[in-house]
Amino acid sequence: MLDKHNREINYLRISVTDRCNLRCIYCMPKEGVSVIGHDDILRYEEILRIVKAAVKLGIVKARVTGGEPLVRRGIIQFLGTLSAIPEIRETSITTNGLLLCKVAEQLRGAGVRRINVSLDSLRPERYAEITRGGDIRKVMEGIAKAHEAGLSPIKINMVPLKGINEGEVVDFARLTLKLPYQVRFIELMPFEKADSAFESEYLSNELIEEKIRELYELDEITPDEGDAHGPAKLFRIRGAKGKIGFISSISRHFCSSCNRLRLTADGHLRSCLFSDQELDLKGPLRAGCTDEELGVLINESIRKKPAFSDQNRKNPAIKKCAKGMSAIGG
Ligand code: SAM
Repeated sequence: MLDKHNREINYLRISVTDRCNLRCIYCMPKEGVSVIGHDDILRYEEILRIVKAAVKLGIVKARVTGGEPLVRRGIIQFLGTLSAIPEIRETSITTNGLLLCKVAEQLRGAGVRRINVSLDSLRPERYAEITRGGDIRKVMEGIAKAHEAGLSPIKINMVPLKGINEGEVVDFARLTLKLPYQVRFIELMPFEKADSAFESEYLSNELIEEKIRELYELDEITPDEGDAHGPAKLFRIRGAKGKIGFISSISRHFCSSCNRLRLTADGHLRSCLFSDQELDLKGPLRAGCTDEELGVLINESIRKKPAFSDQNRKNPAIKKCAKGMSAIGG
């Protein structure tokens, strides 16, 4: 389905929980965020009703995220049901990887093929600092298990932070020499509910690319089918097995090709990460709306998807999302 700016909206990101087993400094404040009450979180069957209404409007890809999706009970079964919806051509998940080791095989069994693992440092102590207590060994074991289980592509998401992990970007790029992973550098985005100071920690991907190019030749590559409409600019270090992606949400907006909708854990549809405009679906669902009525609401959200704000473009630091990434679904 085309929105009013001629973009084809075919991708739904589903946040199944706002709870997380980490407290990354740029994502959440130290004390954590107040969590949504259990009754206010969409039940799996409610999410599936929304997905079924959304596929009628052209959604063909679903990514499950959070909070940390793997902490929610029943997640594997839910993923199995989600990926069995015939119109959904691709089911993927974004995880911090802490619980991945135990469930990698089951994820594959549930029809998940693509997986994104967030990893902001390769050094155990720094990883623990950034995540406020995370154990990197578990993440590494999880990634290896996911690889063994045949999940592919495995994408490693790294957010470079000035003065914190910026010295590791070349180490991350080097991972791709021998491993068939896609390492993606994601620019820090401004969210109100985080401790990190966007203005002092933001690093543009242009700088990251330069640092890598000082040591390696980077060849730009065309994305595969599954990534063709994604926001990443892709490269390969000459001769490397894996790929390097740059997702430059701040320095090079990709609003004009944005194909996504986000369903928040508390049942709101959000058509733009940087606009706090949301449409409540949980209320109508619980009040007994029909599938047709649900479709009308989803359609309305697609129609209202903002093009982008000029103000953001000129000065991205001005606009901060009031909700944190853990509540919206990253
Ligand atoms: N718990 C899962 C995980 O860690 O991947 C999924 C949710 S997490 C919110 C999803 C992604 O959002 C992570 O890759 C994280 O790095 C990213 N993220 C969170 N806050 C961000 C920010 N302020 N700027 C850029 N990326 C952010």
